[in-house]
Amino acid sequence: MPDIEKIYTDLKEKISENQILLNANMKEYTSFKIGGNADILVTIKNEQEAKYVLEISKKNNCSIFVLGNGTNILVKDKGIRGIVLRNRIDYIEEVKSIDEDDYIEVLVGSGVKNSVLAQKLLRENLTGFEFASGIPGTIGGAIKMNAGAYGGEIKDVLIETTYLDYDGNIHTVSNEECNFNYRYSMFKDINAIILSGKFKFKRSTYENIKEKMDQNEQARKEKQPIEFPNAGSTFKRGTDFITAKLIDECGLKGYKIGDAEVSQKHAGFVINRGNAKAEDVIELINNVKEEVSKKFNKDIDLEIEIIGE
Ligand SMILES: Cc1cc2nc3c(=O)[nH]c(=O)nc-3n(C[C@H](O)[C@H](O)[C@H](O)COP(=O)(O)OP(=O)(O)OC[C@H]3O[C@@H](n4cnc5c(N)ncnc54)[C@H](O)[C@@H]3O)c2cc1C
Repeated sequence: MPDIEKIYTDLKEKISENQILLNANMKEYTSFKIGGNADILVTIKNEQEAKYVLEISKKNNCSIFVLGNGTNILVKDKGIRGIVLRNRIDYIEEVKSIDEDDYIEVLVGSGVKNSVLAQKLLRENLTGFEFASGIPGTIGGAIKMNAGAYGGEIKDVLIETTYLDYDGNIHTVSNEECNFNYRYSMFKDINAIILSGKFKFKRSTYENIKEKMDQNEQARKEKQPIEFPNAGSTFKRGTDFITAKLIDECGLKGYKIGDAEVSQKHAGFVINRGNAKAEDVIELINNVKEEVSKKFNKDIDLEIEIIGE
């Protein structure tokens, strides 16, 4: 068992005390608002701090979970042992203009929220990221998940990404090397802290970009249960079926265990009506999977990640 007090003391040597929290309530750090405590939550603001946390975790034989904005995870009720590294590497830099100013390369820190980048690009009249403006995570989470919506995906706009492996080495990999697929990238298979993404965007007009962002936002409001805590689509789309449609046809909209419920607005979302426990959500998910399998003989996969204990 790692010595949490010792890790806390070690971290404080190079990271400000107000960035380190013991027994952090993960309800406060996830959009689902579910989960027990993390032993230590440390917010990092730059690459040096990320490297230092890795060093301390190694020295103390302690595990690390990298947290972005916590919008695609379900934390279990007993919480997370070891360190939660909460990423807030937060910068946006224009790198260069290409093709006589047609394309612009932009380097973005992995802790920047998609909405913040989208607003910045809108102000700069740069198009290509409107699809992600309403995806409530960070750039790091979006790269790992190849986040997408409304016909766009991260893989369409990313040039390359830079990450730190757990031995403290920095690597830069091209878009192709990321091996993107539907809600998948190579980062699903390795231990890494994504540090930044270099993107390409095209010049457009404020009005065109704003119109697309507004349309997407309107569609989200109409179709998604954003009035309740959730973690986005609970399940992945099937290869030859729409998962939410099958769940709906099983009559499961509104199906509840405790405060966990299959949304009545969108059957692909599990929502937290207030005090749902991870245990409730997991039981609900398993039952939904079983019903869909019984009625349609189809296996459905989770999009959200279940973490902790
Ligand atoms: C209301 C709502 C709507 C949503 N709509 C969409 C949608 O339209 N399309 C879509 O694709 N998703 C959607 N999501 C899901 C979610 O927002 C995305 O998956 C998002 O990309 C997750 O980013 P995050 O920063 O919150 O990651 P987290 O939830 O914090 O983490 C997700 C995974 O990424 C890892 N991770 C995060 N940051 C890093 C990093 N810097 N380095 C390495 N690993 C990292 C975590 O360890 C974890 O494995 C929605 C969620 C909600 C709540």
